[in-house]
Amino acid sequence: MKYSNREKNLYQHQPCQESFFCQNCGHVVSFTGAGTKHRNHCPHCLFSLHVDVLPGDRSANCSGLMEPIGVWIRKNQEWAIIHRCRRCGHLSSNRIAADDNPIMLMSIAVAPLANPPFPLEKMTQVLNDTTGDNNEQD
Ligand SMILES: [Zn+2]
Ligand SMILES: [Zn+2]
Repeated sequence: MKYSNREKNLYQHQPCQESFFCQNCGHVVSFTGAGTKHRNHCPHCLFSLHVDVLPGDRSANCSGLMEPIGVWIRKNQEWAIIHRCRRCGHLSSNRIAADDNPIMLMSIAVAPLANPPFPLEKMTQVLNDTTGDNNEQD
């Protein structure tokens, strides 16, 4: 029992060096080329699997596919991907890897702009309004 716990938490303390098939796109994901110790998503489609509670600990019991739903910029200007589990809704943030597909990264980043929650004309309207004298804040 003690031994299997150690196995489970193995990748928190040392790099994961296993190749695997991406369960979303079927791409073979190898540990080389990532430029990071923890390759936690497919560099081709950027999907991940819900296997970790803490990065690398492999202690989540879900195993759902995690969809890349957004990117954000960490304080060192580095991009990170927000993954959302399709099975349980868990959200997690993961550093991008050196060989991540740049087209996929960009398409995730601009997706909200391509599908705004209001008609684009409304922006012109708001801009016109704010040039007037009706700024009530401050
Ligand atoms: Zn993939
Ligand atoms: Zn999950």
